[in-house]
Amino acid sequence: MNFKEQVTHEQLDAAYANYVGRNGYLLDLEFEAGFPISAIEKRKPNLWRYREALPVLYDADIVSFDEGFTPLLEVSFSNKKALIKQEQLFATGSYKDRGATVMMSHVNHLKIKKVVQDSSGNAGCAVAAYAARAGIACDIYVPEDTAEAKLAQMEWNGAKIIKIKGSREATAAAALKAASLHYYASHCYHPFFMHGTKTFAYEVCEQLGWKAPDALVLPAGNGTLLLGCHIGFHDLLKAGIIHQMPKLVAVQSANCAPLAKAFELKQTQPAAVTSLHTLAEGIAIAAPVRGAQMLSAVNESKGQFITVTEDEIIDALREMLGQGFYIEPTSAATIAGLKKYLLRSENETVVSLFSGHGLKSTEKLLKLRQL
Ligand SMILES: *Cc1c(COP(=O)(O)O)cnc(C)c1O
Repeated sequence: MNFKEQVTHEQLDAAYANYVGRNGYLLDLEFEAGFPISAIEKRKPNLWRYREALPVLYDADIVSFDEGFTPLLEVSFSNKKALIKQEQLFATGSYKDRGATVMMSHVNHLKIKKVVQDSSGNAGCAVAAYAARAGIACDIYVPEDTAEAKLAQMEWNGAKIIKIKGSREATAAAALKAASLHYYASHCYHPFFMHGTKTFAYEVCEQLGWKAPDALVLPAGNGTLLLGCHIGFHDLLKAGIIHQMPKLVAVQSANCAPLAKAFELKQTQPAAVTSLHTLAEGIAIAAPVRGAQMLSAVNESKGQFITVTEDEIIDALREMLGQGFYIEPTSAATIAGLKKYLLRSENETVVSLFSGHGLKSTEKLLKLRQL
């Protein structure tokens, strides 16, 4: 595997202040996770119950809202059932809080006073909230067309917003430039972020009675959750708690599917695509920086990629909202993918999620109501 460089905690802090690897390689953390099960089961129901598996050295540095341990709810889709993790129920309204609590705890440990970040939405909201909780200043670079509700959330949490004209990639480039002066708290590059999102895997495993599901249907934008699950289930395998890696099924919008295309062509790097408008803005990433790693994770798990059309996203959104769930349109893309997967699956335990809360997308949902 040549797309990443494995480093230890200490090497990471000493040599790579901004976590952007040399020669374009991305950094991953070498860390041995421990699972003292009987102690874990007695702790508070939040993600820090997996304390021995989280790479933050001192409890005093932890920046937390007592997040995590979200409900795993059974939902029916025609005559099939799946378990849906309620990841819309985090303090900032998406599972990005998993990554933010671990990454910002580490930033706090380093006594960093200001961070920069770039995001088209939920990652920015999460980093802004955790920076506020820790008293750390935060500049967030966003594409000009970012939803007003998400900007309001970041600004009220004290972040400074810098709007960048042009593509999502132009925003990332502006943030990378700023990162030469300030600490880059990036959800895509920073390896600690994935060591937060991996707690999704731990929770699913614990909620199933310390067993792995057969398959997970996950969103695939920058892959923070997908790669987190890859790390998390590997940790559980290595610890002997589970005995088989679940299949990772990754969902992309047909209008922006660089990885699904590469997978189909059996390529190891993301395919070059032009991104068309999609309701699933949260996963519309044309050039995911960890794309090769995402392809490798899906292949290794014997999983697959699924693409969903705009009509399928709308249908899934309508179906879920009609059942009383309130999720943002991006979340409905994953559910549309799940529905397709369930048609092909027999007698499997399948886990998926609601990735973001509908209250963040009121403007969009108001418009969609008129369709
Ligand atoms: C970030 C996000 C995704 C996609 O996650 P990646 O980590 O970019 O793959 C999906 N849904 C919501 C609501 C998100 O915020």
